[in-house]
Amino acid sequence: MKGILYLVATPIGNLEDITLRAIKILKNVDIIAAEDTRHTLKLLNYLNIKKPLISYYKEIEKVKSEILINKLLDGKNIALVSDAGTPGISDPGEEIVKEAIANNIEIHPIPGACAFINALICSGINSKEFIFVGFLSTNNKNKKEKLEELKNENKTLIFYEAPHKINSTLKCMLEILGNRNITLAREISKIHEEFIRGKIEEILEKTQDTKGEYVIIVEGTSKKDEKKEFLNTLSLEEHYNYYLNQKMDNKEIIKRIAKDRDTNKNVIYQYFLKNKNK
Ligand code: SAM
Repeated sequence: MKGILYLVATPIGNLEDITLRAIKILKNVDIIAAEDTRHTLKLLNYLNIKKPLISYYKEIEKVKSEILINKLLDGKNIALVSDAGTPGISDPGEEIVKEAIANNIEIHPIPGACAFINALICSGINSKEFIFVGFLSTNNKNKKEKLEELKNENKTLIFYEAPHKINSTLKCMLEILGNRNITLAREISKIHEEFIRGKIEEILEKTQDTKGEYVIIVEGTSKKDEKKEFLNTLSLEEHYNYYLNQKMDNKEIIKRIAKDRDTNKNVIYQYFLKNKNK
């Protein structure tokens, strides 16, 4: 019989934030695959658990996935943990899950801490609809491009960031997204837990010393997309000609119209097919 792969969430600061089920699974599996074995050993010592550990970090995810899949095929049960929080969320995990699915191996999540969920629920910013972006690129050009791509989004935006880059990232956000409401969730579940809420400019003045771990929650734009509103006042033929005048081909025009009208491109395609010879 094949083994089972468990993706076990671990604390993001306070060691007491581990579930009873997570402890049970960690005690019962044959192997624990960990992002950093020394880091996980501290948690296991705290929980009084002794298990064989195998390291599984981003740079070796592919190779280690193969090794772990072979062990699962041999019937071993494996728990995957990252340094903190939920595996697979800005942490290794995705690769082994894909491989396990391809090999018909049973996978179970063991729910628990995740930094961005806890930052979001205390942010005071819309938690109904959001986009989790995770870490922005360390390359300035790519970072700006990503923010440009997100600037017209009215859903809440969620970022992870390293402490030494908080100020430069906030400056970049101010430049591209404007002076929006944000919440910096700092050191969640630790002694210095803090939620800093306000406009980016005010917060930049308060964050000279940026020690600790941060999640940045950014309010979505309140601006309506004026171009989209205008295009939606046009007939479908006028909308088509608008893009045709910009020298786009038929396929691209259909795709754009569908996006502007929040509909499926097949609906638009069928419309023009039916009305072609009228
Ligand atoms: N897998 C983790 C999770 O479920 O949230 C995220 C791991 S990611 C490599 C680490 C980033 O998560 C940090 O740079 C920080 O942005 C955020 N983070 C982790 N722990 C945090 C905490 N206690 N308080 C605030 N942010 C935290």
